[in-house]
Amino acid sequence: MTFDPAVLRERHSAVMARIAAAAERAGRRPDAVTLVAVTKTWPAELVAAAYEAGMRHFGENRAEELAEKRPRVESLLGAASSDITWHLIGTLQSRKTRPAAEHADVFHALEREKIARRLSGELAAANRRLPCFVEVNLSGEPTKSGLDCSRWEVDATEREGLRKLVIDTSELPGLTVVGLMTMAPWDVEPAVIRDVFSRTRKLAEWLASELPGRAPLQLSMGMTDDYEIAVEEGATHVRVGRALFGERA
Ligand SMILES: *Cc1c(COP(=O)(O)O)cnc(C)c1O
Repeated sequence: MTFDPAVLRERHSAVMARIAAAAERAGRRPDAVTLVAVTKTWPAELVAAAYEAGMRHFGENRAEELAEKRPRVESLLGAASSDITWHLIGTLQSRKTRPAAEHADVFHALEREKIARRLSGELAAANRRLPCFVEVNLSGEPTKSGLDCSRWEVDATEREGLRKLVIDTSELPGLTVVGLMTMAPWDVEPAVIRDVFSRTRKLAEWLASELPGRAPLQLSMGMTDDYEIAVEEGATHVRVGRALFGERA
């Protein structure tokens, strides 16, 4: 399999230009948004070509796939690979916390304290740290992962559940909560997607005001079909696969 860095460079510039335009429409700085190139299902050779094309943040949704791919990419690229950041973006099962702790640089889908505790133990053993996003479900779709925050504006129990997960996680060695991650519902009007993203931003603002330090939280939201809306609504990280690499096999 070969992947043409020239084609990837073109797609990368096109996505970066759309991110910049969306940021400007919202009065935000384009460099406030990190593009995470989602390489799940694609081989290490594609990641190496994407690196040559200028990409530096890569996203995988399964811990085992990340654990296999990262060392392969590192051997293809050699020392250059040290400026890559690897994002684990998918839900993690408790028996997969070791590969996650050993190979992820950022985790986007924390949703349970049990996972946080196991990750913390594995991180201590590996002598690593892992910034995390807590995944929240704003749409109320039962098939979506994430902590249920679908009625957070009116439901104090949902807010308290999130606050407790964030505080308990941040007390664990090796873990820090840096923000919230969400997925938009499928097959709905852009206005509904925008509403989910804007409510997620407000939830992050509320949460930041409840935490010691009150530092602003980051927002991981937006994929191929909705990343421009996400940037307009405050995303600091967009997770884009198909717009860069085409349909997955
Ligand atoms: C696959 C995936 C993406 C990227 O999806 P595209 O539609 O290819 O842009 C983003 N986030 C998560 C959690 C994913 O699993």
